[in-house]
Amino acid sequence: MDTEGPVTDNSDPTLLESWKKVDVALGKIFSPGIRNLIRDDSGKSFKMSWFFLDWVGFRTNPVKRKLGYHKIRDHYTKTWSAQIKQFSDGMYWHYHHPPKDGVGNHWETDWLWSNQHEDIMNHLIIDRKFYPTIFRAGGTIENNDASLWLENHIPFDFSNRAPFKNPFLDWSRAPKKWGVYHPSRTDYQKIGNMKRAIARSLDLSGREYTIPEEEVEAAFSQAMQTGNAIFSVFSHDYRDISSQIEHFSLILRDMRKKYPQVKFVNATAQDAINRNLYPTKNIPKIDLKIQKGTKGLTIRLLSAKHMFLRAPYVALKSKNKEYSRVKVARMEDNTWVVDHHALRNGEKIGVAVCDTRANFAVRVLTL
Ligand SMILES: [Zn+2]
Repeated sequence: MDTEGPVTDNSDPTLLESWKKVDVALGKIFSPGIRNLIRDDSGKSFKMSWFFLDWVGFRTNPVKRKLGYHKIRDHYTKTWSAQIKQFSDGMYWHYHHPPKDGVGNHWETDWLWSNQHEDIMNHLIIDRKFYPTIFRAGGTIENNDASLWLENHIPFDFSNRAPFKNPFLDWSRAPKKWGVYHPSRTDYQKIGNMKRAIARSLDLSGREYTIPEEEVEAAFSQAMQTGNAIFSVFSHDYRDISSQIEHFSLILRDMRKKYPQVKFVNATAQDAINRNLYPTKNIPKIDLKIQKGTKGLTIRLLSAKHMFLRAPYVALKSKNKEYSRVKVARMEDNTWVVDHHALRNGEKIGVAVCDTRANFAVRVLTL
């Protein structure tokens, strides 16, 4: 779910325009009645993957978004945290790159003109002790600049919308198989040797669209022939999608009858990719320690063997509440240092690392 909060758009009266209305729709998705429409082979109800967005970096707000850091995510953690836990949902990151004209509902394809993505990461790390390890691109707009940044920061990406293409986004050359691929450095749509993995997800529904049955069947057929498939659909929290989930559950029910040999598992975005890429190998939990000394801040990992990042991501919050990213120097295999010249008393420093399975650890310290 691209989790964006309420929106007021006169051209589409079906969109939910207040938190009150969004919460009524969410109440259905967070009810056992809807969740149990799709149970897997072991009886577990379906899981939601919430990709939270921060509306920041925009100068105007024509459709009345809830602007500001953490506004959307905090609404969910305040209102729905018990249900998110109850259903073992995933909490991830959705990001809209701000447009150069600053207009709140315009798209932007130039990833390099603004560093807003890292600014939001800095806030998430320091304020919420959260590091995003699974990503969905705003409008599913991706290009090689974004892909290279993601390669250095975020292991899993659920943005492949193949074969969709319009003037802003292009997934026309990307794999149409229901699973993951490691992209090429020179073309994010081609299979290559990047570490990061991209999974496919298609629109559950729009104003005049529902997921075609052929796509659901393609996933089952692929699972039967190759041994696995990850099937995923996406929507937005400013729509009431309960009736579309009901409709989709009937398509799924028929397909499971048609393909009884296919084992069906409900999973979060993270679980689905891990089951696909690493079906048997477990790795140790991240052991991250940070310590302030006279030379600066020392960052230690017990083992960096399965780390996804090349170096820990370090964010700083100054006394006058400015957020920035800080460079780290590698000292030994598992040790990094932030030089004391970069640090001042009273500042907050946040250190984040993540592993290849999209687990993360964050430590925050006041200097
Ligand atoms: Zn979006």
